[in-house]
Amino acid sequence: MLALRLARQSTPALRSTCRRTFFGFSRKKEPSVVAGRARKPEDDEPELFHLHSQSPSPALRLRGERVKKLAACPVCTSVDKVRKNVKHECPDCGWPTHCTEEHWEQDNEHAKYCTRLREVNEDDHDLQSGRRIDEFSMPGPIPYGETVSLANWDIFWYTRGFPSIDTERAGRHLSKLLTYPMTIAGVLHEYSSLNTRNQRVTPEGLRSLVALRTTLHVPMGAPETHGPSPDRPPLRIFILGSRAESSLPTHVWNQLSLMFPSATLSIYHIGPEVSLPKVSLPAEEQAQAASPQAAASPPEGKDSLAISPSDAEELKSLKIWKPKIAELKMSKFTRNEIANYGVPSYTSPINDQLQIAALRSPYADIHAQFGPFDPYTDVFFAFQPGFGFPSQHTPGITQIASQSEWGSVIPLILETKCSLFVTGFSPEDVERDVRSLEGVPGIANEFDWILTPGENPFKSLRWEVAEFDPRLMVRNNWGIWGIRGQSFIRPFA
Ligand SMILES: [Zn+2]
Ligand SMILES: [Zn+2]
Repeated sequence: MLALRLARQSTPALRSTCRRTFFGFSRKKEPSVVAGRARKPEDDEPELFHLHSQSPSPALRLRGERVKKLAACPVCTSVDKVRKNVKHECPDCGWPTHCTEEHWEQDNEHAKYCTRLREVNEDDHDLQSGRRIDEFSMPGPIPYGETVSLANWDIFWYTRGFPSIDTERAGRHLSKLLTYPMTIAGVLHEYSSLNTRNQRVTPEGLRSLVALRTTLHVPMGAPETHGPSPDRPPLRIFILGSRAESSLPTHVWNQLSLMFPSATLSIYHIGPEVSLPKVSLPAEEQAQAASPQAAASPPEGKDSLAISPSDAEELKSLKIWKPKIAELKMSKFTRNEIANYGVPSYTSPINDQLQIAALRSPYADIHAQFGPFDPYTDVFFAFQPGFGFPSQHTPGITQIASQSEWGSVIPLILETKCSLFVTGFSPEDVERDVRSLEGVPGIANEFDWILTPGENPFKSLRWEVAEFDPRLMVRNNWGIWGIRGQSFIRPFA
C-alpha cells in the first residue's frame, strides 16, 4: 500500500530512473529456506564458539541476558499468536532464539539466520579473547609510484599493504572500523570504482567529483607528491548527524588522509550526538566521565558501534539507531572550541594534512558559521541518517519532512550546490531514505542525482544483530547514493 502511494507521488524523473535501475538491487531473492540444521560459516573456528550463557566473556553473557529480556520466540509469535520471550539457546549459533527446544526444532526458518549468527558469535568471541588484534595495525603512507585499488575490500587490503588481513574474519573486524573513512575515499578518490561506466556516477555527478578531485589530487599526469600543497585549499568534509563515526580512533580517520597524499583534509563531525573529548564536555558530563564506569570505554570504538538494548525499543518503532557515545581520548593539542563555535566542540590537529573537529549541535544551527561554501572544496556525508524513518517529534511524518530534524538541514545543503553522499544499512533502508525525498517541499525537484543508489564497495562486512530480534541483521553503510542542489553553473577552471 505504502509503495503504491509512493509510486503515485514520485516525480517523472525519479519514476523513469526507478524503472531503469534504481531499486534493482533490493529485488534480490531471499535464499531459499533450508530445512533442518544450518551449515557452519565457511571460516568456522569451533574453539571461538560459545553459547551466550556459557561465554567466557562477561560482556557476551550479558548480551545473552539482554536478548532473553527483549526478543520474542518467532514460533509463538507467528503460530500461537502469543508473545513469549526467547530462552532456549540454539546449539549451532549460540544465541537465545526460541522459547523452548521444541519450538527451536519446529522452526525451519531459523536455518536462514543461524549461519550468520554463528559468524557473529565467533567474531565477537575472537575480539573479546584478549589476543593481540594485529589486523588493527594500519599501514603508513602509500609508497611513491604505488597505486591502491578501490574496487573492493579484498583488493584494497592487498594493494594498500595491510599486514594481517589473511582471513575473512580479520577483514570483517577491520572493515567495521574502516567503513566510515573508506566509504568517503571510495567515492571521492580518482580511482573510485563508482563511475560513469558502471552508471553509478551520473554526468552531473562526474562534474561534481571532478571539481572535488582538483582539490584532492595533483593535476592529471603529474606525480602525486606527498605533503600538503601550499597553493591548494583544504577539503572540508562535513559529516552530518555524526554518531559512532565521531568516536573512531583518530588513526582510523588518518587512513582517509593517507589515501590523498597531496591533500589537506578537515573533517567536521556535526550533530547532537557526537563524541567529545573530556576537554570540551559540558561540566555535568565531565563529572560523569570521571566515574570509573564511564572511564572503561570500549577499545577501538568496537562496542560503541553495537546496537544497545535501550535502542531496541526505538528500532522497533523504526527510529534511528543510536550507538552509545564514548568519551573520546585526544592528544594534548586538542582544543576546546566552545568560544569559537558557541556549542560544545573541539578541534584536534592530527598532523599537517588532517584536522578533526566535532561540534555537538543540530547542523542547521551552525550552518551559517561555515559559509561561504564551494563545491570544489566542501563535501557533505550522512551515514545512515534515517531520512525516511518516522519523525521523533511530529507524528505521521518522516524525519526529512520534519523541520526540527532533517527537513531544515537538507535544503541548506542543496543551496550550497555541494555534493551530499548518504549511506544506508540495508537495501530497504536505502530505498526508504531515497523515497522519503519525494514530495518534501524545498527538497523534491530541487536536486540532481550525482550517485545512483546501490551497493557500497566499502560497506562493513560484519553483521550487526538487533538484540530485540536476532533475525534482524544489517551491515553498516551497505549502500550509498548522492545528490546535489540543482543548477551547478560554475564553469570549470
Ligand atoms: Zn515459542
Ligand atoms: Zn542457530
